[in-house]
Amino acid sequence: MENKIKFLDLTQQYKSVKKEIDFAIKRVFNTGRFIGGEEVEKFEKEIAKFCGVKYAISVNSGTDALFLSLKVFGVGTEDEVITTPFTFIATAEVIVNVGAKPVFVDIDPKTFNINPSKIEEKITKKTKAILPVHLFGQMAEMNKIKRIAKKYKLFVIEDAAQAIGSDYKNKRAGSISEAGCFSFYPTKNLSAYGDGGMVITNDKKIFNKIRMLRSHGSSPKNKYYNLILGINSRLDAIQAATLRVKLRCLQKWNKKRGENAKFYDKMLEGIGDIIVPYVGPGQTHIFHQYTIRTKFRNDLMVYLYNSDIPTQIYYPLPLHLQPAFSYLGYKRDDFPEAERAAKEVLSLPIYPEISKFDQKKIIKKIKEFFKDKNLV
Ligand SMILES: *Cc1c(COP(=O)(O)O)cnc(C)c1O
Repeated sequence: MENKIKFLDLTQQYKSVKKEIDFAIKRVFNTGRFIGGEEVEKFEKEIAKFCGVKYAISVNSGTDALFLSLKVFGVGTEDEVITTPFTFIATAEVIVNVGAKPVFVDIDPKTFNINPSKIEEKITKKTKAILPVHLFGQMAEMNKIKRIAKKYKLFVIEDAAQAIGSDYKNKRAGSISEAGCFSFYPTKNLSAYGDGGMVITNDKKIFNKIRMLRSHGSSPKNKYYNLILGINSRLDAIQAATLRVKLRCLQKWNKKRGENAKFYDKMLEGIGDIIVPYVGPGQTHIFHQYTIRTKFRNDLMVYLYNSDIPTQIYYPLPLHLQPAFSYLGYKRDDFPEAERAAKEVLSLPIYPEISKFDQKKIIKKIKEFFKDKNLV
């Protein structure tokens, strides 16, 4: 079925930049250099400039960006890192993978981001860092988070995997803290043709050390002289070359997502018990996801599915209730807002190329659902 609505259609994006992408790939093939090199270095510089920071270090994934950031600040066994339970597993997984313990703090139900007013009560002598997530493309309340971090001398590392190009009080996601982490996973707003990630920072020492860590801790001057131990987490030249093409379109694409969101807002506000996404003051939301809330989420999702309209639940189970984290000893009702959100959220197709026609069809079906339920 050609005309079926897709949750995300990357083939449309490819069609719109095909010439430049194909050319970029050919360019890499002609250089014969596939790991690191000029394309990668140029892309790093362009990302740093785009985010308004001094340095950027490309890595193999968003997960590795987070992992290496925690590592570079010396987060390890005995340490605790404060984060949100309402995020993708990678955020908390990396905390465990450096040997530390994730400590969750409930979310603000309006933004789905970590609630800064609940952070202080979770700080102990072992707390080393705060790891806020800019969920769905809107940044966490960084001013409040940074104030707390300063008071208790903690590092802040931003999980900006979903927020590249969003602003908070005129500062770019990832640029406000000690280190900002991005993912170029294919579904993200700036997406690779494979895996990819980036760390940004203003600190030269951090920059140098992550650069070493991503490539076995080799000395930059002598590859076979290892000062520290690292991992293999590098960005392919093909990914860098194609990401450079897409970076030039990112603002335009993010803007289009914003326009699509506005259209949904206008048409869905006041339908049933739907709550449309909240955008806080000073925020530029880049709508990585357009996520509504409704108590009838499960029924609505099935209704839309039966009408060939794909939707997604981000996230169906908060991290503190994941079997993998059961050893942390959390239980149900520990984070009521995250748990309520997990039951009520529904993300609608929002990618830049989605047509008005398709959006209208989605809106019509949602209205129909609530009309059938007598909830309009
Ligand atoms: C995608 C994502 C990651 C992980 O990025 P990968 O590139 O898939 O490793 C981490 N945190 C959040 C919030 C994400 O959305």
